[in-house]
Amino acid sequence: MAKDILDLTGKVAFITGASSRGIGSGTAKVLAEHGAKVFLTARREEQLKEQVAAIEAAGGEAGYAVCDVAVAEQVEAAVAACVERFGRLDIMLLSAGISGDYTDDIDFDLEDWRNVQSINLDGVYHAMMYGYPHMAEQGEGVIIPVLSMAALKVSGALPYTATKGALLRMVPWCAKNMGPHGIRVNGIAPGLIDTDMTNPPGWDTTEMLHIPAAQKAPLRRCASIEDCANAVLFLASDAARCITGQVIAVDGGEAMIE
Ligand code: NAP
Repeated sequence: MAKDILDLTGKVAFITGASSRGIGSGTAKVLAEHGAKVFLTARREEQLKEQVAAIEAAGGEAGYAVCDVAVAEQVEAAVAACVERFGRLDIMLLSAGISGDYTDDIDFDLEDWRNVQSINLDGVYHAMMYGYPHMAEQGEGVIIPVLSMAALKVSGALPYTATKGALLRMVPWCAKNMGPHGIRVNGIAPGLIDTDMTNPPGWDTTEMLHIPAAQKAPLRRCASIEDCANAVLFLASDAARCITGQVIAVDGGEAMIE
């Protein structure tokens, strides 16, 4: 029988931004379905408990820690709790993020700028730096930050775009320097995805946002949470064992057109 190259049995995945109807929790479910033990983090504990319960009800193994990625000490503690619970650290999906105020205006709003930087950029840095020593000691690991189409073309507000653009350079830098320690670093850059971020509870942005975006994309569809999860699964698995320093757009082709 052929070996399942996407099998993650024995692997441990640490996931930020896993409390919502979003890319983090959706991917956690897919990684767990493929055998990984998943450790979920975010700020809202009740939502984290619900996600853990759903994964366990489906036969997976999951733990969680409350953690604000903007606070280095909380990320350090969450990574330590994951290793304490599951004994190792193989995969980091760094999905915690906020859009900030959406505007094309050239506004100077230092509070919004700092808030978006502290979560989208500092948060990824914190997780990578606290996860790296565990992976280096094991001699293997995969780090997968979630970027955005905003890293590839002009899209979204300036503070958001600046953070995602910075990640576009961090991915190959870390890939080059962590590669000799057996660690691969690849990102995904989603287009518009129907999640709590773009379609929050109590709203319906389908007509206004999602249908027009799908009509513009070459594949005439927006990617889904599941499409993002499948890309992460591939990058996390042995199928991508010789791929590092790359950012894969998951967007129906939207980023390559104006
Ligand atoms: P989402 O459903 O709003 O999820 C965001 C997650 O991040 C939540 O679980 C939230 O949980 C967590 N989070 C926010 N601030 C945090 C903080 N300070 N510390 C820890 N966790 C925090 O949005 P999503 O669409 O899945 O977004 C996930 C990632 O994809 C983001 O990086 C986003 O920029 C990126 N992305 C999304 C889209 C899209 O169209 N949806 C497109 C491109 C890129 P708590 O509030 O409980 O902390």
